[in-house]
Amino acid sequence: MSGSVDLQNYVGGRWVPPVATGRLEVPDPSDGSLLARVPRSEAADVEAAVRAARDAFPAWRDVPVAERARRVIALRNLLESHTEDLARSVSRENGKTLDEARGSVRRGIEATEFAASAPTTLQGYFLEDVSRGVDSTLLRQPVGVVAGITPFNFPVMIPLWMAPLALVCGNTFVLKPSERVPLSAVFLARLFGEAGFPAGTFNLVHGDVAAVNALLTHPAVDAVSFVGSAPTAKHIYTTAAAHGKRVQALAGAKNHLIVMPDADLEHTVPAVISSAFGQSGERCLAGSVVVAVEPGADRLVARLAEAVQNLTVGPSSSDSTEVGPVIRADHREKVNRWIREGESGGAIVAARGKVPESSDGFYVAPVLFDRVQPEMAIAQEEIFGPVLCVVRAGSLTEAIATANRSRFGNAAAIFTRDGGAARTFVHDIQAGMLGVNIGVPAPAAYFPFAGWKGSFYGDLHATGRDAVEFYTHKKVVTTRWF
Ligand code: NAD
Repeated sequence: MSGSVDLQNYVGGRWVPPVATGRLEVPDPSDGSLLARVPRSEAADVEAAVRAARDAFPAWRDVPVAERARRVIALRNLLESHTEDLARSVSRENGKTLDEARGSVRRGIEATEFAASAPTTLQGYFLEDVSRGVDSTLLRQPVGVVAGITPFNFPVMIPLWMAPLALVCGNTFVLKPSERVPLSAVFLARLFGEAGFPAGTFNLVHGDVAAVNALLTHPAVDAVSFVGSAPTAKHIYTTAAAHGKRVQALAGAKNHLIVMPDADLEHTVPAVISSAFGQSGERCLAGSVVVAVEPGADRLVARLAEAVQNLTVGPSSSDSTEVGPVIRADHREKVNRWIREGESGGAIVAARGKVPESSDGFYVAPVLFDRVQPEMAIAQEEIFGPVLCVVRAGSLTEAIATANRSRFGNAAAIFTRDGGAARTFVHDIQAGMLGVNIGVPAPAAYFPFAGWKGSFYGDLHATGRDAVEFYTHKKVVTTRWF
């Protein structure tokens, strides 16, 4: 890897300067200082990476699964021993706090541990005598070259949802990380190399739209795993599918947190605050609408308002920071536009936090809106910033109907002491990842990341058994011996 701030691609087991000459600056969101310049790779750079992956595929698919799993275990051990440095890299380039970054690296390690169980998860099945003297066997084989295209908000975790599992299933892999957080991807590429994955099995191509579009249309890419915003997910899904590829595209969100009048506020208020304002609201599982069921909304809003006013906004490196900066200056402007729109649309600002004085970082003062109408744009669109809307509802039925009107269906949660209310919620809500008295219901790596509706394009989700299915073809062999 080059030691300069100009990053390189990792292709065929070597760091290579890109053919493309364009670069984007990567600022530290906490103070605006320059961290790196990332190449805007073009078709020629993608061609080199895909070619390396294609060339490595025949030998890698024939490596016994137990040996592939041993490389994953080696990677897992390297991730473990570099946890703190990885977390610092994530925190620095993304702006989340060190604790949040540590948690996300831990989640990535869990996904890597799940990948190591491939000798079990890859097993097929066999049925004797499907007809007289005829047997059937189902076996799984890799799909080929997988492209992983990832967002800025989890620079280590989301690449680790994809690459270890795709590789252990016998595929080769090309990562196109977010151009806004390229440094953790560079760190990961180094670790894949050290773990003993053969040259060409894991490749890294930096860049933005041109690199993505070259991957989506390249004839030697067989499958695309994508995580990012809703408009990009739709583009990825339609373009890659039209080019004959298998696609999973995880998209944006607008998650509802229903708070019943009987909820235990000692636990509920911190859980809601952490869901909405943790990681500056830049999480696809962030709670962004609280549906407060009456009676009890006034009491809840008063408690939430007090908490929001007391949030400490500051640089990711400070131990006292609870809410870091957002990712870029233009994203800060976008979030502030949403806040102005909420104010002019009649929502009440129940609380507004403070930003650090005299800083060049990309800080947004956290805002709690009360008496938001469900049809307002701030209650419908993903803001991806430290903004929480409270919508009031007269009953659980009305609260569920409010949540179900969203075009998104990533996550939802209920806070209650009533098992019957929780059961009705789980049964009727139209979202894929649910929390009962849990504000960020992130599935463990052995379950699918199961967004619904406009939060997901595809059939098989990321992580868990779905992902094993996604990264493999099925073959059914019917056998008769004479
Ligand atoms: P993004 O869509 O801007 O970028 C994601 C990736 O797509 C990046 O690698 C980027 O280079 C590429 N890209 C961006 N615009 C493109 C275009 N026009 N054509 C081709 N490629 C393009 O997303 P982001 O801002 O990096 O990430 C935040 C979004 O991701 C939020 O909407 C969040 O909800 C979503 N997200 C979803 C999940 C989930 O599991 N559903 C998880 C994490 C993040």
